[in-house]
Amino acid sequence: MAIATVNPATGEQVRSFDPLTEGEIEEKLAKAAAAFRAYRKTSYADRAALLHRAADILDDEAGELARLATLEMGKTLGSAVAEVRKSALGCRWFADHGERMLADQPWPVENGTAYTRYEPIGPVLAVMPWNFPYWQVFRFAAPALMAGDVGLLKHASNVPQVALAIEDVLRRAGFADGVFQTLLVPSSEIDGIIGDERVRAVTLTGSEPAGRAVGAAAGRHIKTSVLELGGSDAFIVMPSADLEDAVANAVESRLLNNGQSCINAKRFIVHADVFDEFLGRFADRMAALKLGDPMADGTDLGPLSSPDAVETLHQQVTDTIAAGAKLHTGGKPLDGPGNYYPATVLSDIPDGSPGHHEEFFGPVALVWRADSVDDAIRIANDSPFGLGGSAWTTDAEEQRRFVTEVETGMLYVNKHTASTPEVPFGGAKNSGYGRELADFGPRTFTNAKTVWIA
Ligand code: NDP
Repeated sequence: MAIATVNPATGEQVRSFDPLTEGEIEEKLAKAAAAFRAYRKTSYADRAALLHRAADILDDEAGELARLATLEMGKTLGSAVAEVRKSALGCRWFADHGERMLADQPWPVENGTAYTRYEPIGPVLAVMPWNFPYWQVFRFAAPALMAGDVGLLKHASNVPQVALAIEDVLRRAGFADGVFQTLLVPSSEIDGIIGDERVRAVTLTGSEPAGRAVGAAAGRHIKTSVLELGGSDAFIVMPSADLEDAVANAVESRLLNNGQSCINAKRFIVHADVFDEFLGRFADRMAALKLGDPMADGTDLGPLSSPDAVETLHQQVTDTIAAGAKLHTGGKPLDGPGNYYPATVLSDIPDGSPGHHEEFFGPVALVWRADSVDDAIRIANDSPFGLGGSAWTTDAEEQRRFVTEVETGMLYVNKHTASTPEVPFGGAKNSGYGRELADFGPRTFTNAKTVWIA
């Protein structure tokens, strides 16, 4: 895949970049190792001050940075601005709370003093996706930089300008040369970089195939890895739910980021008593959304990231309908330039069709009918993925059952799943392993060293 900016709204290639040569990669790895030797000795207060400065730059330049994201991957400009501001918030959160999260942890021993100290481990490679091109990076970088690690970013090949902008923001914030570097390299270089002895860990947010490749390389080289992979989150609606609120959240959660988020609600599992009403209202709302130029005010839904994304999604929709699913709205890409796919609703998803077990990475909702709580839990768990999910019910016993029986890394009740610094983020099953954010974020890429002084 070429490293280039291609505008998803027009199909026009705006700018391309030469990948780094072997020599340039070597230079950057050497620089990262040297930077780590000095950076690891800095104080938490120094790191926090740098992160605060980065947050201020992100806020001050949110409009300009957001335009770059919209240009490269097609999210609406308003949502891109919100993403840049959230990245600023993430920097401030870990600047303000990181030291507490990384404090020595005492252990009760009879003879002497024992504790865990969290020591930075060195350069960490972050392999990141294009869908939240700022937030995904800062979600890793802010806690890791607070912990004293240094970062190497291999960003998705379609967001090179955002990747360079992030390095630039951190450098202008005052982080020393080499503390955070962008590597413009194709994914074929990743295996070798993980194998380099100076790189101590890797985190990947992306698809299952990329996760398997990166996890295997990390395993071969005995390095810590975190994998945040795809999802097909359930959104369970029970009769006691406030239906209007559930419908509004269903639309919002399915269409966040033009439908291209790992934690979008993708499978809507609705109790038979409210099924027809929910489906009717939901399909009407989805059909009414404005699809168009992501830079323009008033656009609800922008283009998908690439022509391939449209092709893959449309094939999944076509095959699911051919297997017997019912189409309620959408279902066909728009003619003309740009990667536009309308909000689409399918129900009666047949077993064995793509809708049953595949992730639909675009604005397509898959709706199931459930006869009971047991049935809703069965359908929710009938997925290779286990990232997040939400249940909409005011019944305490139903809430308890969904919380304890749905097999996911995150389960929200009467609220749709979100990625925010205060709570941990990560999945189960084929959605990956490891946790980011909250206290897990700063500790993940550290050596949790046991000390016992007798
Ligand atoms: P990809 O997995 O194709 O790309 C993600 C990153 O991995 C890119 O930097 C890519 O580089 C790199 N990559 C791809 N293949 C390999 C490989 N074999 N070895 C090493 N690196 C590789 O994902 P998409 O860009 O298609 O993103 C969408 C997917 O990511 C969805 O499945 C989505 O659910 C998942 N995702 C998960 C999230 C989570 O937090 N759990 C959040 C967001 C997305 P290059 O671009 O050069 O190919």
